[in-house]
Amino acid sequence: MGAASVPRETTPDRPDGPSVASDVLRPMSESLTESISDGESGVWTPIAEEAAQAMQVLHADSLSLPKPARRRVLTVANQKGGVGKTTSAVNLAAALALHGLKVLVIDLDPQGNASTALGVEHRGDVPSIYEVLLGDLSIRDAIAVSDQSGNLYCVPATIDLAGSEIELVSMAQRESRLKEALSPEVLDEIAPDYVFIDCPPSLGLLTVNAMVAAQEVLIPIQCEYYALEGLGQLLGNIELVQAHLNPGLSVSTILLTMYDGRTKLADQVTKEVRDHFGDVVLRTIIPRSVKVSEAPGFGQTVLAYDPGSRGARSYLDAAREIAERGAKGQGQG
Ligand code: ATP
Ligand code: MG
Repeated sequence: MGAASVPRETTPDRPDGPSVASDVLRPMSESLTESISDGESGVWTPIAEEAAQAMQVLHADSLSLPKPARRRVLTVANQKGGVGKTTSAVNLAAALALHGLKVLVIDLDPQGNASTALGVEHRGDVPSIYEVLLGDLSIRDAIAVSDQSGNLYCVPATIDLAGSEIELVSMAQRESRLKEALSPEVLDEIAPDYVFIDCPPSLGLLTVNAMVAAQEVLIPIQCEYYALEGLGQLLGNIELVQAHLNPGLSVSTILLTMYDGRTKLADQVTKEVRDHFGDVVLRTIIPRSVKVSEAPGFGQTVLAYDPGSRGARSYLDAAREIAERGAKGQGQG
């Protein structure tokens, strides 16, 4: 059943660069849609279809997503590297922001990949999450607005953060420094509907800080061999945090990523994860897509880079599921 929700159309991702401007797409998709609905013999080509789909992704009018019953703070964690944590954090955030919600992404990985994908400066001396964790800066003063949406904010990570795992060890309240920085007063002032915290691929103090500051954990799982390896350790750590530091924490969301429909293995992993985690797993599965992997090279999310691509549409679908659950108050303790 899982595999059925993966887009399987054969339309290839366009080989050329960034997406067509939305003002060009709108008239094109509208006139094509009209000609088809009028029953005229309009030509419906794969490119026209993709353009129409891009309009759905980009234009919130008919598709705005519901606000959560309460503000949601989600930590995107998996100590396994390269499973799609950053890609999922930024693309889900962008999808929610493009559809009317205010979203803050906290880049908690010294690699700064989330900052890159959101087009936010993270080199040199820019105010970053590092100074926030040290207590030298309020999170308000480290926030940058992404050029991809006025609703999308990011606290960048600079390379300085690389030393912080060690620096934090000797600090007071070392596990709850992010939680303190994200106090209810500060959050009320910034007023995001969603906060996504992008974790590094480790279970060190940065990830612990993220789990203490959040109510929910979102675990991306790659549909590949070894995908489930290490998951027990991750869940064990989450239980430790629940027991000692944050009783309100729950694994609310699992997102299957990089699904390759050509392999049997992908379906096996999907089935295994669904059997084990049930409804926590989103119905939407993110397919492996070249456009998704190209987007960060342009300092963009795939929603900005190629809104009509399968990758962009599946992240929008996943974001919609998350928003619908949030509106019902699910996953919020
Ligand atoms: P790290 O553990 O290093 O932080 P991560 O878990 O954040 O990694 P990503 O950086 O999101 O993982 O993804 C790893 C690589 O896979 C990146 O090059 C990314 O562009 C690519 N990638 C992610 N999702 C997809 C996808 N759906 N299709 C194709 N490539 C993808
Ligand atoms: Mg990452």
